[in-house]
Amino acid sequence: MAQDTIELTTPIERLPRMTEKRALGLRRLGLGNVGRLIAHLPMRHECEAEESAIADLPVGITAAARGEVTATRPHSFGRAPRFEAVLTDDSGRLDLVWFHQPYLARRLHAGMRILVRGEAKRRSNTLQMINPRWQSLSDDAEPEAAEARLRPVYPASTAVKSWEIEQSIGSVLDDALPLIDDHLSPAYRAERELPELRDAYRMMHSPATDTDVAEARRRLAYDELLMLQLAVYMKRAQLRERRRAPRLAWSEALDKHILERFPFTLTSAQRAAIDDLVKDITTASPANRLVQGDVGSGKTIVALYAMLLAVADGHQAVLLAPTEILAEQHAASIASSLEGSKVRIELLTGSLPPQDRKAAHSRIAAGEADIVVGTHALLTETVRFKSLAVAVIDEQHRFGVHQRATLRTADEIDRVPHVIVMTATPIPRTLAMTLFGDLDVSTINELPPGRTPIATRHLTPDRRDEAYALVRERLKAGEQAFIVAPSIDGFELDGLAEESPDAESSTRTIAGVSGLLAELERDQLAGFRIAALHGRLQRDSRAHIMARFRAGLIDAVVATSVIEVGVDVPNATVMVIESAERFGLAQLHQLRGRVCRGKKRSVCVLIGEPTTPDGVARLEAMVQSSDGFALAERDLALRGPGELFGTRQAGASPLRVADLIEDRDLLAMARRDARAWIERSAELAAFDERVLRRRVLRAYGETFGLGDVG
Ligand code: ADP
Ligand code: MG
Repeated sequence: MAQDTIELTTPIERLPRMTEKRALGLRRLGLGNVGRLIAHLPMRHECEAEESAIADLPVGITAAARGEVTATRPHSFGRAPRFEAVLTDDSGRLDLVWFHQPYLARRLHAGMRILVRGEAKRRSNTLQMINPRWQSLSDDAEPEAAEARLRPVYPASTAVKSWEIEQSIGSVLDDALPLIDDHLSPAYRAERELPELRDAYRMMHSPATDTDVAEARRRLAYDELLMLQLAVYMKRAQLRERRRAPRLAWSEALDKHILERFPFTLTSAQRAAIDDLVKDITTASPANRLVQGDVGSGKTIVALYAMLLAVADGHQAVLLAPTEILAEQHAASIASSLEGSKVRIELLTGSLPPQDRKAAHSRIAAGEADIVVGTHALLTETVRFKSLAVAVIDEQHRFGVHQRATLRTADEIDRVPHVIVMTATPIPRTLAMTLFGDLDVSTINELPPGRTPIATRHLTPDRRDEAYALVRERLKAGEQAFIVAPSIDGFELDGLAEESPDAESSTRTIAGVSGLLAELERDQLAGFRIAALHGRLQRDSRAHIMARFRAGLIDAVVATSVIEVGVDVPNATVMVIESAERFGLAQLHQLRGRVCRGKKRSVCVLIGEPTTPDGVARLEAMVQSSDGFALAERDLALRGPGELFGTRQAGASPLRVADLIEDRDLLAMARRDARAWIERSAELAAFDERVLRRRVLRAYGETFGLGDVG
């Protein structure tokens, strides 16, 4: 085929030395034309040493040597049939071993000169190479000695191997590179020290040094992140253009008035988050802000501030909590900080009797409720507000992105509230929302003063008594305890149809609240006042128990993870988590957050016997760190980033080069750049943006519903 006819759309079948079998294999990998082939990036690079004499072969890295085959020996018996040969040169001898390649007996003979490539190993006093690649030198003119190089390793398949992909790419690379347009201008690249796109591809496929690979990676990762962020901001610009939220009034007098209500001085991180919010909600373009802060960092008050601004301006605000217990607690604590004011608070939960719910609905619609607190039952029903200005979603990690969308349109179509989302688990879920959910982020990176860090211990089940000795000690000192179990009734696990994070192999008992309560009352905590708390209790009795616990009339609560989020009882200083291996890392951290709220030194004991490496890693991480951000990243590392992209992509990440953890600086840069870009040119419609626009729409147009701008 004539080289000058190569296009990026040229089918791979027309490439030099392409066999039918290889073409089929490449097509199965989605690499049907030259452009696709060039865009298929290596997953890593292998260091390959320069060719050397046998005696000088380096050990442990891929290297090459040539010589004469002086003996061969097939072993066709046994489980792993192998073929052995001896390669000799002036300097020494190298033993070659191939497994599962019986046809070598027909192709390799003593007396041939060959070049081999592979990793040499020293075994006692012989030098050995297992499964080397080899090439016969007898018929061809002998090639030059190979120089040291970095060899790309491609995602491959059984039908087409990495080296075949390498060869195919190598056969067109020089012709194809000049055809690649850069969607970033030379000035833009220079400012960010990014190489040209075609150079990045060249350095990726055929790097001279590690620096080449790093530079190429940086450009390609930046591109992925930039396109993703451009799509996010394009989408947001489209939404903002169409939707309006109430523009709320703010003044210093109002600020002072609100702060006077709060029983403490704000931390500077809380103040900064409030300033961000004020900036958002005093404009008519709907806010979408994520307030992230570790457990106990004081997010509630930040949200309350924004809600009070809405109320002061004659509008309504809603606070949505993931559980009824938390909604009840929020309503109670807001009511107590607003005691004596005219603000009317309405608690709306799923367990409200129908008539009461109806009455609440009509008060909300008539504007007779100022602050509505509820569970997400609020989201699924048609609650009409008279004038909703601020919607706060607490502990967003428990909600789906989809539900957030429902709330947005709960009001009239074009009028939406300012949305504030609060979470203590920034990654992985919320990073996903940062990526897909067009949120701005404020971070509360500071705890209120006077907190003592929590101590966390891990005990195996045979040492449970030590845990409860500790609990007794604390209770005697007048403090309180949470004891957590993964289920209400407990169950036997036989390792078969279990969807636990740990695949169990033997039968074991998973603790349940009921059984545990009975055991503790009878035995370890006899004489103390204990109560059970879980989702199956009636709302009234649950609220009653929480109120009594808060008032110090109950010493210990035995609960399921219903207490996981938000519950705030500063005098509770000890927590025991039974069958701790059953909980995820984010969940364990949330649970533990229930007991480091006061000034006293708190303790958390994890009882568990993890049976998988991940389970061990989770408990270890808990013992080592009490920093929610660090744990969230650990969690992401343990679970992998696939789920960041939700169900849409069935676990496959559209990011092939960029790594959301390692490239976070690059992500921040891409985010800033994309934002500025869309502010300048919301539709990417300028002539010199056409390549970029086409690529962004191709990558994300469908996912983000950007089609209508196309
Ligand atoms: P989270 O961020 O986990 O939702 P909360 O809002 O429940 O945290 O606050 C945790 C505890 O810290 C509460 O008891 C709250 O009253 C208290 N708190 C919040 N802000 C401050 C502050 N600035 N100074 C002292 N205590 C505070
Ligand atoms: Mg909270």
